[in-house]
Amino acid sequence: MVTAETPPSPTAGACPNCGGGNLTLERRVWVSKARVEAELAHCTACDFLFLRDPSWLAVAYEDSFYGDTGYVDRNLHASRLLRLLLVIGRLGRFGPSEQGCDLGTGLGMLPRLMRDHGFDFHGTDEYAAMELIRPFCDPPADGAIGCKTAFEVIEHVPSTPEFLRRQVGTVPLFVFSTLMRQDGEIPAPDWWYYAFGNGQHVSFHSRRSFQVAMARAGMDPTWLVSIDGPVHPRALHAIAPSARWRRAFRVAGALVNRGLDGLLLPPLQALAGLRPRIIDDHYVAMERLRSAAERQPCP
Ligand SMILES: [Zn+2]
Repeated sequence: MVTAETPPSPTAGACPNCGGGNLTLERRVWVSKARVEAELAHCTACDFLFLRDPSWLAVAYEDSFYGDTGYVDRNLHASRLLRLLLVIGRLGRFGPSEQGCDLGTGLGMLPRLMRDHGFDFHGTDEYAAMELIRPFCDPPADGAIGCKTAFEVIEHVPSTPEFLRRQVGTVPLFVFSTLMRQDGEIPAPDWWYYAFGNGQHVSFHSRRSFQVAMARAGMDPTWLVSIDGPVHPRALHAIAPSARWRRAFRVAGALVNRGLDGLLLPPLQALAGLRPRIIDDHYVAMERLRSAAERQPCP
């Protein structure tokens, strides 16, 4: 529910994206099932649009997946894109990309799909039980990870610079999704991506505001490349210092959006020496259960 429209007005406080103080209150809204009153604010310095001081997140994540109608299809598409991208990098010897970690993985569907097709992927999520990727929830240390992903996570994070600095770090390839506004655009109150009803989306970037976040995190803004998703424009992105990874991301995206990965992936994955981890992972999972059971005291 949205209040009657009032003209934007200056408001005090610091922008969580650029640290500046040029904030405008766009409108007051009610978010989450607890209907907490919140302010949708815009920073005129960096173009970041966001919900201020999100105090309702514990309520918002009681039902982690309520209303996430695209979850399954999004993960299937993401896994096709990532598999093609990583196999191009592997065959082209772009550098280490073998081990991966999906940040904010939710159920863990994406890393499970990646492992099922031979890639050594893990997952992390502070709000979800990650049922589909257990027991592969403990990623290796950052230096060993060649690729991180975060699909539909950025819009959940109050401070993007902090997320990029602490969670993404200096990984050679970061692939993610978030819907980006046009620069300067303030979407209408009924924009579906606000999702005020569940209160999980708090950060609504444009390309400009996202590149400001990158610079604050110590990243070169030119490392960002964006492509259209299968449904939404400007939905899929990669950050990579290497131009080869950025070109490969564009090529893989174009091929997957035309459905050509179905033809290309079986021979390319075989050529790259990838084989499913389904049975190997099954044995690892059973072994860990057995070890855990042996540590339990006898009744
Ligand atoms: Zn700002």
